[in-house]
Amino acid sequence: MPGGVASLGMTDEPGSVADLIRTAAEAVIDYRAGLPHRPVAGPADRAALLAALGGPLPAGPTSPDRVIDDLVVAADPGLVATAGPRFFGFVIGGSLPAATAADILAVGWDQVAFNAISSPAASVVEEVAGGWCKQLLGIPASASVGFGTGAQSANTVGLATARHQVLAAAGWDVERDGLAGSPRVRVVASVERHATVDRSLRLLGLGNASVRPVAAGPQGAIDIDDLAKVLADEPTMPTIVVLQTGNVNTGACDDLRAAIGLARTVEHSWVHVDGAFGLWAAACPQTRALTDGIELADSWCTDAHKWLNVPYDCGLVFCADPSAHVAAASYSAAYLTGAGTAGSPSDYVLESSRRARGFAVWAALRELGETGVADLVARCCALARRFADGLAAGGVEIVNDVVLNQVLADFGSDERTDAVIDAVQREGTCWLGGTTWRGRRLMRISVSNHSTTEDDIDRSVAAVLRLAAGL
Ligand SMILES: *Cc1c(COP(=O)(O)O)cnc(C)c1O
Repeated sequence: MPGGVASLGMTDEPGSVADLIRTAAEAVIDYRAGLPHRPVAGPADRAALLAALGGPLPAGPTSPDRVIDDLVVAADPGLVATAGPRFFGFVIGGSLPAATAADILAVGWDQVAFNAISSPAASVVEEVAGGWCKQLLGIPASASVGFGTGAQSANTVGLATARHQVLAAAGWDVERDGLAGSPRVRVVASVERHATVDRSLRLLGLGNASVRPVAAGPQGAIDIDDLAKVLADEPTMPTIVVLQTGNVNTGACDDLRAAIGLARTVEHSWVHVDGAFGLWAAACPQTRALTDGIELADSWCTDAHKWLNVPYDCGLVFCADPSAHVAAASYSAAYLTGAGTAGSPSDYVLESSRRARGFAVWAALRELGETGVADLVARCCALARRFADGLAAGGVEIVNDVVLNQVLADFGSDERTDAVIDAVQREGTCWLGGTTWRGRRLMRISVSNHSTTEDDIDRSVAAVLRLAAGL
């Protein structure tokens, strides 16, 4: 064959694509093999990282094999073992084997998941994996789905669709005329909504002052009586109700059936559910009741990179009304063959040219299957309870009802809790963060990784209790 693989750099010579990809794959294999053993996060030496990675812009080329060798060595001390079994900070999933390998393929194939012409495989795989997600999450099969960068972008698209629809119902075309002179829109949301909702509202021109805050109940779910009161205040105003499945501190889930029932009593309402991690409770028989009524909402957001354990970055937005979704999010231009027709992956998200995120979701769902996803959710919840029980047995106060994968712990005072968190982060057995909830500093534990075992929890509990005892 003229040229053949050699002309594409597919030889084993140093610096060839084949050589570089093998080097990178081996570095990843070594790293992942070491995950259960390496300190989760040492205090990073920023100056050393800057010395190793910094310096002036190179004046000329460097051989690619040297570039990759240098990167592997220089970055290592600054890597955080978030993919490993004892990282309990934020809400961070690991990455399942097939999903990780599929993402490596997506990068190697370098597919542009803009539409069915730029990559038929990427387009079809999003359609298929999106359908599987709807089935698992209890979202109507007729809903549209977009694969974005995360729940932030998914919330933004869901709320853009909400904005489109409530204003259209009030006789206003927001896509054409913008918000200047439009009817006012109110956003009814819990005081314990996720902060990304506020950023989305800012970006959409609704502004943070559009929020009519609703009280949260003792565990952080929306207070239904207060929701009724707030909704009754301005019943004819175009209304977006933002609900939550999975409070980022407590894991509490709003009573969707009751809340959506109330939302339907106002004239023009749209209900968006932020279920960045908590929506996956729907995929597990033991936790499904927490999402009762999920199918009644108008739009939903969730992350795949959190509880589904797909590599970063990947979040999903679903809309019950696909035409509203496309009206709010799509665009077209004369040169973009195939764009603007419903069904193009980029019509449902914020990005035009985009990474092919569907392969990893498809791979994760094939690897796990329906029972595997249910087991993953059930296991993380059971391990969170084990963590809470272990700390409680050591005299630590657990502040929340552990209904999902989130645990809040109080070590006696704000200062002592912060000191314990700091000591744990430095020691390296596990990593977990702090939060302020209802005016108290608390240790916040999130169990979201498929590879975490009971032994990981027991080792982590022992480390936390030992470090706390030494303070
Ligand atoms: C994590 C989270 C978000 C934001 O998700 P990203 O993936 O970081 O964009 C939004 N809402 C909730 C409830 C979350 O837990």
